[in-house]
Amino acid sequence: MAEAGKTETSESGPLRLFFALWPDDATRAALNRTGKWLHQHWGGRRMRADTLHITLAFLGETPVDKLDALIACADSVEIEAFDLVLDEAGYWRHNHIGWLGASETPPQHFELVGALNAGLQAAGFAVDARPHVPHVTLLRKSLGGELLSCAPVRWPIRDFVLVQSVTESDSAHYEVIRRWPLG
Ligand code: ATP
Ligand code: MG
Repeated sequence: MAEAGKTETSESGPLRLFFALWPDDATRAALNRTGKWLHQHWGGRRMRADTLHITLAFLGETPVDKLDALIACADSVEIEAFDLVLDEAGYWRHNHIGWLGASETPPQHFELVGALNAGLQAAGFAVDARPHVPHVTLLRKSLGGELLSCAPVRWPIRDFVLVQSVTESDSAHYEVIRRWPLG
């Protein structure tokens, strides 16, 4: 029987994990519309609507016995809820990704990313040292183009989640395994 506080996946080998912002249904629909629009400009492979998210901290392959420590890190994060307005599309040449980002990011977003990554680092998890660029990946293998303004998507950020990434033949699917409300 699974212990209290552990997930059902705890019987298995290492889990590929990341912390993320996960859109509510209305935001997901708006992000998906923007994805269709951007695809008309830049081509490539659109991300499925059910995969759209913003990564806050990427952990990668994580032994199951580290899950409690991971959850404790997230438990200690205290950040107020905020709205994130996504209003520009960008392109990264090095990985051919077309993404949706923000011309102005509220300080609470960086506080959330900072608190989470600092807690993870202090607990001994290896986290990404690169500066965080808030973005929703919309297109893969895209030809891309110059930065584009787009119809703003207002995303009410009320919680963050821990996600398991399950790799399939040509893409990943994601399962939200835990959720933390913001203040
Ligand atoms: P696949 O790698 O199978 O094509 P994916 O990239 O969607 O699928 P993951 O590699 O598990 O799935 O990544 C999950 C999330 O974490 C994605 O948002 C991805 O951009 C991000 N991510 C992956 N690797 C890193 C990394 N080294 N640093 C920061 N973020 C990462
Ligand atoms: Mg990947």
